[in-house]
Amino acid sequence: MEIIEYPHPTLRHESKPLRRVDAELRHIVSEMFDLMYEHQGVGLAANQVNLPYRLFVINLEGTPEAKDAEMVFINPVLSGAKGSEEEEEGCLSIPGVTGPVTRSEKIQLQAYNLEGEEFVGELSGLAARVVQHEIDHLNGTLFIDRLTSTAKMAVHEALDEFEIEFRSKRETGALPDDASIAARLAKLENLWT
Ligand code: ZN
Repeated sequence: MEIIEYPHPTLRHESKPLRRVDAELRHIVSEMFDLMYEHQGVGLAANQVNLPYRLFVINLEGTPEAKDAEMVFINPVLSGAKGSEEEEEGCLSIPGVTGPVTRSEKIQLQAYNLEGEEFVGELSGLAARVVQHEIDHLNGTLFIDRLTSTAKMAVHEALDEFEIEFRSKRETGALPDDASIAARLAKLENLWT
């Protein structure tokens, strides 16, 4: 398992709800946590590891020592957003790039964990921001899509670099073409959704 980077097409894929959880999926989730810590992140969505499921993991402490802070959200639904706040964001799929993103200050979240237990609660601060960032991922949206045109200009060159790198990986065959990526995602969707 590895984190895919912008502009990999899976990052633009609209993820599908999970219909069941099994041992293999639990294993995937534990690998996602490991990768997230390795890359010093606080959240990771399934499509960032090239999987088409509505699932993400977060640990706001950002360290495996804080096991209690680990949370898994399956089929999350947002409602009741209140207020707005601008903060600097980054993304493990666009390493080194950051920019100011305006998000709701408070959100209502409903989701399930790996045990199938329902989570319903109001989130604010960093938790609300990370959850909104991760749910964006599941809908194929990246934080760079939410930058103002001025902020977007500031990261334009860095994004170009990612695009050049992506094209060269394709040319050398290190990355499959769009059709192969789409076929793989469709196959994976049949497994758990
Ligand atoms: Zn991200």
